[in-house]
Amino acid sequence: MSKGSNKPHPHSHLFGEKVKPKNWISTVKRIGRYFSDQKWLLSAVLFMVIISSFLSLLGPFLIGVAIDSYIVKKDAEGLWKLLIGLIFVFAGHSVSIWLQNYWMIGIAQQTVYKMRNNLFKQFHRLSISFFDKRQHGELMSRVTNDIENVSSTLNSSFIQVFSSILTLAGTVGVMLYLSPLLTLISLSIVPLMYFGLKWITKRTGARFKEQQRNLGEINGYVEEITSGQRIVKSFSQEQRVIEEFMVKNEKLRESGYWAQTFSGFIPKLMNVLNNGSFALIAGVGGVLALNGKVSIGVIVIFVEYSRQFTRPLNDLANQFNTLLSAVAGAERVFDILDESQEESDEGGAIDLSSVKGRVDFQDVAFSYEKDEHTVSNLSFSVEEGETVALVGPTGAGKTTVVNLLSRFYDTDKGKVLLDGHDIKKIKRSSLRSHMAFVLQDSFLFEGSIFENIRYGRLNATDEEVMEAAKLANAHSFIQKFPKGYNSILNQEGSGISQGQKQLLSIARAILADPSLLILDEATSSIDTITEMKIQEALQRLMRGRTSFVIAHRLNTIQQADLILVLHDGGILEKGTHEQLLHQNGFYSSLYHSQLKRDA
Ligand code: ADP
Repeated sequence: MSKGSNKPHPHSHLFGEKVKPKNWISTVKRIGRYFSDQKWLLSAVLFMVIISSFLSLLGPFLIGVAIDSYIVKKDAEGLWKLLIGLIFVFAGHSVSIWLQNYWMIGIAQQTVYKMRNNLFKQFHRLSISFFDKRQHGELMSRVTNDIENVSSTLNSSFIQVFSSILTLAGTVGVMLYLSPLLTLISLSIVPLMYFGLKWITKRTGARFKEQQRNLGEINGYVEEITSGQRIVKSFSQEQRVIEEFMVKNEKLRESGYWAQTFSGFIPKLMNVLNNGSFALIAGVGGVLALNGKVSIGVIVIFVEYSRQFTRPLNDLANQFNTLLSAVAGAERVFDILDESQEESDEGGAIDLSSVKGRVDFQDVAFSYEKDEHTVSNLSFSVEEGETVALVGPTGAGKTTVVNLLSRFYDTDKGKVLLDGHDIKKIKRSSLRSHMAFVLQDSFLFEGSIFENIRYGRLNATDEEVMEAAKLANAHSFIQKFPKGYNSILNQEGSGISQGQKQLLSIARAILADPSLLILDEATSSIDTITEMKIQEALQRLMRGRTSFVIAHRLNTIQQADLILVLHDGGILEKGTHEQLLHQNGFYSSLYHSQLKRDA
């Protein structure tokens, strides 16, 4: 389910949702560090907030003065002057608000811009194990939702919280100065407001959570069903799926109805309380005025202030949770920034300018999790240019061998040698520059076919790209596209077949011209002609290169120089096809059972 749909509801603070950051002081400090090169701008914003808060107090105050000193005394000239002053106050207020917002947007955008850059850079410093442990969606949500949350909060809530506090303090201060009694009356609605809101929210909280949960469920369901449309259709499950959806949808309607209805009471309640306090102030104020205790101007000021008073109170309550959830979001971003990075290369790690391709595994052991044994006692040697086939049931450790060779993970015990060098002593970038991967699920980027093949070697000319495509048996199908090599592929590679994708990734590998090849054979059903083309292209690609083939079908690896049969993370059998058949062991029975199945 997308996290986006989980945005806290504006009133969600009222429902006690737990979005609390773990250590918000240090997180806030750390966000602060992002501001450090914008200190001046931030000071200017804070200054403008002070000005606007002050002016928002001054406006109503001047109106009171206008009444008491000029209107009551019928001083037209003084009134005019004051009114002109008032225009400046209101205009100044607007300008200061506009400026603080304008500058703050700049600060916020600059901050999240830096955060996004840092986060994306960090992704490339993290080891593969980090990505293996997490879902794409979760990481996507860091880059998009969490950072967006920080951005929108910085844009508005930050200023609002600050100005609300100032306005509240200022309002109460001036009110106390003018009339302690009226202040007490104005403040009397605060506990009413508090308990009233609590009463409502206790009843709505559960409903809102329920609505969120139901929404999440529906999102997940739609995502699942739309991506599995083919399965739904092929098993004729449309009716059942529609019925299931209707049940979920009904639940969402029900919870949405109650949540919205109840939360609709909140502004109504505020309105009633506001009007109540208005009446109280006017009533009590009126009596006081009759007794000459306060002036009419003061009553007007109080009416205005009491309105100004409930607004920031409300804002504060609303913004506080938004702030907390943004801090929690920032914390999640920082957590990733603090993840340990792929260990940097050992001091003195070497660059290999050319690689012949001899590989030795010497008594290698490794596990993904502590106290487990994913692979152990792995020892074998591959001469340069030879082909090794890795065979074995799912989970046997085939991919792990390849992960160790490419140093996506490092061995716990034993050594892997390339041309006699311990690969831990070779720079990772150098090691990987001599390798190419042709994987089952060939990955294509959004871009032209030219660009996708050229990913193998960025400085290749168009002619070299085409040459590689020809060797990969991809040239002819590429030419059939209306735009040929300039055709744009999208990420999913829609419009081209699985087999064609594979041919493109072979072309990419041919262009890269590595000494080490890692092939993950396609398991998916590909038509025989394409399959033949792929096999032919692979043979060309593998010629003269040390190749590790993760084999799923045994008929394609009979030529391999070495077949490793893995089982439970160990080498069960090793040898050539003939030798293994002679042994009459696991491989032999696997081979014969596949023969039977294919027949
Ligand atoms: P194969 O490629 O032969 O199917 P793998 O090498 O992928 O097998 O997996 C070997 C074992 O290691 C399996 O038991 C698998 O569950 C486990 N494993 C693979 N990748 C990870 C990972 N990233 N974290 C933890 N365990 C893993």
